Amino acid sequence: MARIVMKFGGTSMAGIERIRSVAARVKREVAAGNQVAVVVSAMAGETDRLVGFCREASSLYDPKEYDVVVSAGEQITSGLLAIALQAAGVSARSWLGWQLAISTSDAHASARIENIDMAALEASLAAGEVAVIPGFQGVDEHGRVTTLGRGGSDTSAVAMAAAMKADRCDIYTDVDGVYTTDPRIVPRARKLKKVTYEEMLELASVGAKVLQTRSVGLAMKEGVRVQVLSSFTGEDAPMADTLPGTMIVGEEEIEDMESQLITGIAHDKNEAKITLIAVPDKPGAVAAIFAPLADANINVDMIIQNIAHAARSTDVTFTVPAADLARSIEVLNQGREAIGFAELVHDTRVAKISVVGVGMRSHAGVASTMFTTLGERGINIQAISTSEIKVSVLIEEDYTELAVRVLHTAYGLDAD
Ligand code: ADP
Ligand code: ASP
Ligand code: MG
Repeated sequence: MARIVMKFGGTSMAGIERIRSVAARVKREVAAGNQVAVVVSAMAGETDRLVGFCREASSLYDPKEYDVVVSAGEQITSGLLAIALQAAGVSARSWLGWQLAISTSDAHASARIENIDMAALEASLAAGEVAVIPGFQGVDEHGRVTTLGRGGSDTSAVAMAAAMKADRCDIYTDVDGVYTTDPRIVPRARKLKKVTYEEMLELASVGAKVLQTRSVGLAMKEGVRVQVLSSFTGEDAPMADTLPGTMIVGEEEIEDMESQLITGIAHDKNEAKITLIAVPDKPGAVAAIFAPLADANINVDMIIQNIAHAARSTDVTFTVPAADLARSIEVLNQGREAIGFAELVHDTRVAKISVVGVGMRSHAGVASTMFTTLGERGINIQAISTSEIKVSVLIEEDYTELAVRVLHTAYGLDAD
């Protein structure tokens, strides 16, 4: 007998027909003798709809009430799946975040899981029931409902797997694994059999939304074995324990790690670029820009400071999440005197393209291949940032798909 967590995303839960097919898949795992906890997302599009209601009700909505509203989508699908399982002859019970309980911080809309009380769940599993758990939600120390940030059901599933000491956490979605890049953009993307935690963490953080970044960090910390696989397969699909999807693993499980230069490419259209023109070139000038942004909880990503002009002033360019652009401009304008810039220009029509691979540690030339390939296509690079296993460039948004495709070919990632 194995203990497994099965997580089903929004498209997998979109409608009663899909939920029935999820129930059939869960039933197969139970019939194979496994103890199963299922974590579910809201139906596709539902969370967006609920967020829309909050915005419509008030642009300055209370995050505590936002969480009450947006957590509702998962409450519905968890109940429906329990009903579908019972109808299929499988004993099942749903457990909302506050019922288990899944304790989180009180950072509403982006809460962190602190503890999962396993007593009720263990009793339910021991009694042979499937536990159905709504993803994305928890409860804070005041007993109020919290949510974990968009895409957070992945994190719920990994946290549940860690708490249950599960043998595997299977993330069922609408693609059959992690690919070298988004297969919806590059049809020649290749499916990866294995990818390291570290690479998946980088890929997720630079835009590969197949797993929420925090879920990968948690899996790495807790050593949870995560598999990404498709829920869109028939009754004759191979069982999950034959590992038909992509496994996220430690580096020691990858045989020839150094031979692969680049593992994957991701893109992110959700950043905005800000340039401050003619900032004084003196000690403390950069701190005067970024300290107030940090105080306002705005995450700055790429930063470039140009060479000083003759007038001992310089231009500073950086990116922030597009959703934080208006607030960033406000904060910077408030501090205009202290910073001393002449003009602020901004641009949301940018995209960040990133190439990721642990092979970069032992190979030179990754960045230059990227720059040359983009240059040959006439794609201008507006900013660059690097880490040990990643190179990112900022380009004009219209070139996103082209850039991802030509880089995919240039690094030899295309499927045959
Ligand atoms: P779910 O609703 O199941 O959580 P998501 O929409 O959050 O699913 O994530 C799955 C999507 O991630 C896929 O449909 C795919 O378009 C996208 N994606 C982006 N990058 C990748 C990648 N490298 N490999 C696989 N899928 C990717
Ligand atoms: N339903 C939530 C969202 O759309 C959480 C999730 O699906 O992971 O963000
Ligand atoms: Mg998702």
